[in-house]
Amino acid sequence: MSIIDGAYSPLKIFHHGSRIAELRDGRQPAPVHVQLVVSDLCNQDCRFCAYRMSGYTSNELFAGIDPHSGRATRNPRRLIPLEKCLEVLDDCVELGVRAVQITGGGEPTVHPRHDEIFRAVVDRGLELALVTNGMALRPAIDEILLRARWVRVSLDAGNAASYATIRRTSLSAYHRTLANIRRLVERRVEGQESRARKEPTPRLSGSGLSTLDSRLSIGVGFVVTRDNWREVVDAARTVQELGVDSFRISAVFQPEGRRYFDGWHEEARTLCQEAESLATGHFRVFNLFGQRLDDLRQERPDYAFCGYQHFTTYIGADLNVYRCCNTAYSARGRIGSIRDGRFRDLWRSAAKEADFAAFDARDCLRCQFNGKNRMIHYAVDRAPEDVGFV
Ligand code: SF4
Ligand code: SF4
Repeated sequence: MSIIDGAYSPLKIFHHGSRIAELRDGRQPAPVHVQLVVSDLCNQDCRFCAYRMSGYTSNELFAGIDPHSGRATRNPRRLIPLEKCLEVLDDCVELGVRAVQITGGGEPTVHPRHDEIFRAVVDRGLELALVTNGMALRPAIDEILLRARWVRVSLDAGNAASYATIRRTSLSAYHRTLANIRRLVERRVEGQESRARKEPTPRLSGSGLSTLDSRLSIGVGFVVTRDNWREVVDAARTVQELGVDSFRISAVFQPEGRRYFDGWHEEARTLCQEAESLATGHFRVFNLFGQRLDDLRQERPDYAFCGYQHFTTYIGADLNVYRCCNTAYSARGRIGSIRDGRFRDLWRSAAKEADFAAFDARDCLRCQFNGKNRMIHYAVDRAPEDVGFV
């Protein structure tokens, strides 16, 4: 599938014309979507985790102090309290944010009140997306997830042994994760089948939405690394058989940059293309491997204006707001704190406006949103009335 199609298309920016117009007029819009890290604590310890790998410049503020040992830990027990999450979600509604993506930092389902947080997102009319390792997805939250827009389970392995090695977890975790994916797919299919039979619409608790109305897209992610690149086709086949909607292939961002892939990237590229060829009308494969390598080859952006930070923002479980996931937990990416204040006030503040205006993307060491930024540049630089030809 071409990268201009579907969920990861940089062309999606053109659906947000009013925000583009604001930028063209020199104003700063509300973000379209917010990435919210409810937990920095994780129940896995992946070798390639951007927040946990040593020597990576984008996680300099991530480590915390273990309260028991007093030592620094790369798996800090930082969780945003439910009440603060609800406040942030209220602010999202007030600002005009469209969607909230719950992601890591850590594993969202480790948060003891994650179900209430997920429900609060959809109850406010915001679109919900979840990035999860899927290991602890309980049947009790299936109904909430059926109200989400998408769920992406990070798998990153083609078999149980590799999964356990890469994610430094148990062999059984792989099978549990696949079973959780399968169950969620089946729950959605059950709804579709009862709609086909015109059975009474089962209502979800506390909402006007039924499982039959579910627009949930279920995807699986595969980050290509030195450890797993030979398994990308096996992983794609496995999840295709589970009945998921999509498989997303990307490439790991790490301190060595493009050099990390020397000696094996061509073979990996071929396998990614083979995985891509498994796509059908019901199973989409988004192959971002080559694009990510191009981003790493480029290193620093060759443009000053980062439009992406105006369209999405990232709230860490440390209650700092960061420009993007790529600059999360870095001093350079930090916009400000909402520990003692509200997200809406920070976003509207003169300090944030001045920070964004002064920001120079060329100082970022690497960027995985070059394609999106270039589309934003194109859209902002040209008023529709000035484009008279095709
Ligand atoms: S599951 Fe995600 S957050 Fe947890 S260690 Fe792995 S990559 Fe990091
Ligand atoms: S240029 Fe890229 S890495 Fe830098 S803040 Fe913008 S989106 Fe993030």
